[in-house]
Amino acid sequence: MTQKIDTLCVQAGYQPKRGEPRQMPIIQSTTFKYETSDQMGRLFDLEDAGYFYTRLQNPTNDMVAARIAALEGGVGAMLTSSGQAANFFACFNICEAGGHIISTSSIYGGTFNLLDTTMRKMGIDITFIDQEASDEEFEAAFKPNTKLLFGETLTNPNVRVLDIERLAKIAHKHGVPLIVDNTFPTPVNCRPFEWGADIVTHSTTKYMDGQGVQVGGCIVDSGNFDWMAHADKFPGLCTPDASYHGLVYAEKFGKAAYITKCTTHLMRDLGSIQAPQNAFYLGLGLQTLHVRVARHCSSAQTVAEFLQNHPAVKWINYPGLKGDKEYERAQKYLPNGSCGVMAFALKGDRDYANRFMDALKLITIETHVADCHTCILHPASHTHRQLSDEQLLEAGVAPDLMRLSIGLEAPEDIIEDIKNAIAIADNK
Ligand SMILES: *Cc1c(COP(=O)(O)O)cnc(C)c1O
Repeated sequence: MTQKIDTLCVQAGYQPKRGEPRQMPIIQSTTFKYETSDQMGRLFDLEDAGYFYTRLQNPTNDMVAARIAALEGGVGAMLTSSGQAANFFACFNICEAGGHIISTSSIYGGTFNLLDTTMRKMGIDITFIDQEASDEEFEAAFKPNTKLLFGETLTNPNVRVLDIERLAKIAHKHGVPLIVDNTFPTPVNCRPFEWGADIVTHSTTKYMDGQGVQVGGCIVDSGNFDWMAHADKFPGLCTPDASYHGLVYAEKFGKAAYITKCTTHLMRDLGSIQAPQNAFYLGLGLQTLHVRVARHCSSAQTVAEFLQNHPAVKWINYPGLKGDKEYERAQKYLPNGSCGVMAFALKGDRDYANRFMDALKLITIETHVADCHTCILHPASHTHRQLSDEQLLEAGVAPDLMRLSIGLEAPEDIIEDIKNAIAIADNK
C-alpha cells in the first residue's frame, strides 16, 4: 500500500481533473449515450469497458467501489443494494445448485437464514461449523462439491475474532476460497486479504455509512485466488459463458475474473444495484471512516472496562479487554482496535434485562448496530427470534446476550445512562 489508510478514506476512487467537481458527483442516470451502434454492441460483448445501463454499472457506484477496493487492498469491488445481497452474490457467484458451502456457525442472523433457508432451497448444501473447531474437524467438513469457506472477521452479535490465517490455509488446502464478512472491523482495523482471505464482503449500512441513513453492501475481490488451478470446481469462471458468446472469465479478465462475473452475470440477472444517491452517501461516510472508527473503539473500550468491573454484569465479550479469551488473537488481527460493538449479559432473568433496556434513555433499543448513535438489542427477542433455542446456541447466541453498540456520544454519558438503568431495574 503506497498511501496510508486515512488518505485512501478521503481520496481513493475519485481524483477530479481540471474544472471537475471537488466532491464525487452523483450520476443520476439510468442510461448512457453512444455515437454508433457498433460502440454499443461492443459493450454488450464485454469487448469494451463502459457504462450502458445502471442496473449493471454506474459511475458514482464505481468510484465508491474503487475507494473500498483501495481500502481493502483488492483488485476490484462491486456495490450491492444491501449487505444481504453482498453475501448472497459473493457465494452464488461460485456456488450454484449441487454445490456445498462451509460456514462458521457464529454469524449474523440474516446471513445464517440466507444460507440455511434460502440457499438450501436453491439446492445448495450448507455445513455450519464452530469457528474454534480443530483443523481436523474443519477438514472433515469438506466434500468433493465444496466451493467456499465463509466466516466473519468479528462475529455479529458475539464479537468473536476469526482466526483468518488458519481458515485461509484450510480453505486453500482444499482448493476453495475463503470469503470473509469484514463489516464490523472495516478495513481501517483489519484487512483480511493480508491474512490470506480471497473475497471480502461488507454491510456498508454499518460503520462505512456510519450515520444510519442507507442500506448497502459491497463485495471486494483480492484477485489472489487461482480459479484456473481449480477449473473443475469453478466452471462458471473457467468454462465458456454462453450468455456472452462463449467468453471464459478467468482467461479474459485474469485477476478480476470473479468480480467481473459478479457484475456482468449476477447484477445483470438479479439486479440488486445500490442507488447512485446511496452510493454518494456511502462515499461521504467513507471520508470520515478512519476518524470515526478510532473514536468508536476508544469509547467502546472505556464502556467495556466499566461493564467488566460492574457487579451487576454476568459476563462480557469485547476482544479489546485484557482477560478476554481472544485478547491475544485480537492483538494479532486488530492491533488498532476491534469495533464499537460488545456483547454482555446482566445477572438476573429476562425480565430484569427488559427492565434495564426499558430504563435506558440515551441508549436506544434498535435493530441496528455500528452507527453514530449508541444502541442496544436483545437478539433472542429481536434479530434472532426466528431461530429455535437449539439454533440460537448453535449460532453461539446466549439467550441472555445483549448487543451494545457504542456510538459517538461522550462515553461518560453512555456510562451514566447504564448506571441509572441498572439502578432502576434493581428497584423494579
Ligand atoms: C448487518 C449485517 C449484514 C447484513 O447487512 P444489511 O445491510 O442489513 O443487508 C451482514 N453481515 C453483518 C456482519 C452485518 O452486521
